[in-house]
Amino acid sequence: MAELIDGKVIAAELRQQISTDVEELIVKGVTPGLAVVLVGEDPASRVYVSMKEKACAAAGIYSVEHKLSAETPEAELLDLIAQLNDDNKIDGILVQLPLPKHIAEAKILEAISPSKDVDGFHPYNVGRLVTGDPVFKPCTPYGVMKLLEHTGVSLEGKDVVIVGRSNIVGKPLALMCLAEHATVTICHSRTVDLVQKVVAADVVIAAVGRPEMIKGDWIKKGAVVIDVGVNRVGEKKLVGDVDFAAASINAAAITPVPGGVGPMTITMLLYNTLLSAKRRVGQ
Ligand code: NDP
Repeated sequence: MAELIDGKVIAAELRQQISTDVEELIVKGVTPGLAVVLVGEDPASRVYVSMKEKACAAAGIYSVEHKLSAETPEAELLDLIAQLNDDNKIDGILVQLPLPKHIAEAKILEAISPSKDVDGFHPYNVGRLVTGDPVFKPCTPYGVMKLLEHTGVSLEGKDVVIVGRSNIVGKPLALMCLAEHATVTICHSRTVDLVQKVVAADVVIAAVGRPEMIKGDWIKKGAVVIDVGVNRVGEKKLVGDVDFAAASINAAAITPVPGGVGPMTITMLLYNTLLSAKRRVGQ
């Protein structure tokens, strides 16, 4: 049976270290600060924003929420970002996505100062990730890399198959695995014979958003499986993109859903905010 990669335990350890580092900075007179901007009333976004605020409070990070109505003009949001860029209490700016349709997401992300872009979505930061000299690594893929590191999985020379090519998960994850010397295959909806690709993988990372689409018998014996997917099935149940029970038979190690990648995403947001504050004071 597979080893369980417990994201809750690993996230708790990292958050402990982050809190300690934050305390040390506060003693030196620097409080890391995160601004979270929420436009509109999307219920899932509300939940994410409140989780982020609670996590900041628990870590000793100052956080401020800017809640704007769904009708907010794009220019007003750009003004707010400009103010936050200039605010020296703020080390990280996070604009919760998705934004209402009348606001151009790319324009907003580009308005955030790259030095405060703790989500790592600004094209400058994406470019720095491509060239192998990252400023901020995007939080979910960074969390995946931390899970692998804490589980003692070396990627050097391994065949890594990532299913999903989004800008926030699949693509940055591929770059991070490449930086760790893996041979990376990125699959997507037009991939021909996905099964053949997954069957050959030493490490399978699923980031699709389709409940349990990766079947247990696609997993090579001894492979490591990371499931980024979060899919609501019925009223309350959450499942990943991987058939967890069946995949656990062949896998050497596997993340559960929930309790795998999920807790790591906010942890890496805290980490990036701390990193930004340390840079502000030249540490
Ligand atoms: P997107 O919808 O942006 O991307 C999904 C990707 O899956 C696309 O590249 C798409 O291909 C690919 N895909 C869709 N159907 C298939 C298929 N049948 N075979 C192979 N590939 C397919 O999703 P995200 O990257 O934003 O998120 C992926 C999942 O991860 C979701 O469940 C999301 O909820 C979860 N998530 C979890 C987070 C966490 O903190 N745990 C954070 C972020 C996301 P194509 O490009 O061709 O359309």
